[in-house]
Amino acid sequence: MTDFDIIVIGGGPAGCYAGLTAAAKGCRVAIFEEHRAIGWPRHDPGWLMESTFAKSIIDSVGSRVPWSKVNEYRVSHAESGDPIENSSRGGYVVRRDLLEKEIAASAIKAGAVLFLQTEVTKLVRSEGRVEKVETNSRVLPKATGQIFICADGIRSAGSGFAAQESLCEKAGPRPGISYLLANADVSAGVIDHFLSSDPTLNYKTFFTHQKGLCYLSFPTSEAFHELKNRSDNAVSRKIREAYPLEISGYASVTSGKYAEYFKNMVRDNILFVGDASGGAGNIHGMIQGQFAGTVAASAIKEHDLSEARLSEYQDLIAGTLGKAPFFYFSAREDFGAFDEWFRQVEDASKGMEATELAYF
Ligand SMILES: Cc1cc2nc3c(=O)[nH]c(=O)nc-3n(C[C@H](O)[C@H](O)[C@H](O)COP(=O)(O)OP(=O)(O)OC[C@H]3O[C@@H](n4cnc5c(N)ncnc54)[C@H](O)[C@@H]3O)c2cc1C
Repeated sequence: MTDFDIIVIGGGPAGCYAGLTAAAKGCRVAIFEEHRAIGWPRHDPGWLMESTFAKSIIDSVGSRVPWSKVNEYRVSHAESGDPIENSSRGGYVVRRDLLEKEIAASAIKAGAVLFLQTEVTKLVRSEGRVEKVETNSRVLPKATGQIFICADGIRSAGSGFAAQESLCEKAGPRPGISYLLANADVSAGVIDHFLSSDPTLNYKTFFTHQKGLCYLSFPTSEAFHELKNRSDNAVSRKIREAYPLEISGYASVTSGKYAEYFKNMVRDNILFVGDASGGAGNIHGMIQGQFAGTVAASAIKEHDLSEARLSEYQDLIAGTLGKAPFFYFSAREDFGAFDEWFRQVEDASKGMEATELAYF
């Protein structure tokens, strides 16, 4: 058995950032990730919403992680290609797998220990508090901690810890496939987003890395080939000459707002961050990780691990990101327009920077 101050479950952007923050503040941190690598399989196209946090990430690691600035976020009708709205607050598109590796590497430099191929299988309680985790690893089958940061991603609401802790309504996973396409009709610096009443075309979003190179997601590989062969819409026209360079699977959940977002993120001595908290979005998840790591580290220093003390994390979110969550699929209904949503996210996260990443 090995002892840590803080155990982080899941090495995605939210978990790694939480681990980095807590380790930078002097805590003994372990990060457990079930896969063989950080950042892979890739979870998304790497769009970072415009924010001071995103800018500070690019300033810190932009020389090591390929990225491009998005100057225009363009929303159009899928059938006609006619414009609906556009925004100059596009943010950035980064190689997300490499960004995650940078964050994890910084966490390690700050003193965190990373265990790959180690799935946390159980939270073990004693006197109403979690005292240790069990894993599927023969190297480290058990580890004790004082505070547990749960960052097990979208699965948390299905078979993961948010559902087990009854923090959300149980939601089933919905699989999908992301294609990295070459030779698509896309321009550098533009995210093209299409809306339609046809579900096959609705929310097709081209996250462009450079001229011709972009990510596009589909529920199945058949859906990709079907759309490529159609000619009655702007999306198909953009991918007519495209071919895949990389295919990666992902999971989403059956409802856009699967949980009571940001409503309940602390249970006993567990803090939930990122998708595991019912949220979504890379910037949102990393900022949550930074808040959770900060609160957990000061609670440990003050020897106060009570839920009331840890709920400071919940309050920090409520006063900031809680005002503009990552409701991607209902942003236009919730905020009137993407541009207004982007503006409110920028506002809600104003002044927050990835300072720990810059330091390491
Ligand atoms: C198709 C698609 C496109 C998207 N595009 C974007 C985008 O461009 N920009 C954006 O901001 N957001 C995007 N999102 C949302 C974004 O991907 C998520 O919000 C983000 O990945 C959440 O980060 P996270 O760290 O909370 O979880 P994850 O990235 O899911 O990481 C969780 C990690 O925990 C690990 N894990 C799970 N359970 C355990 C366990 N028991 N033990 C050990 N490890 C475990 C998993 O293997 C995983 O590595 C997209 C989502 C989808 C589905």
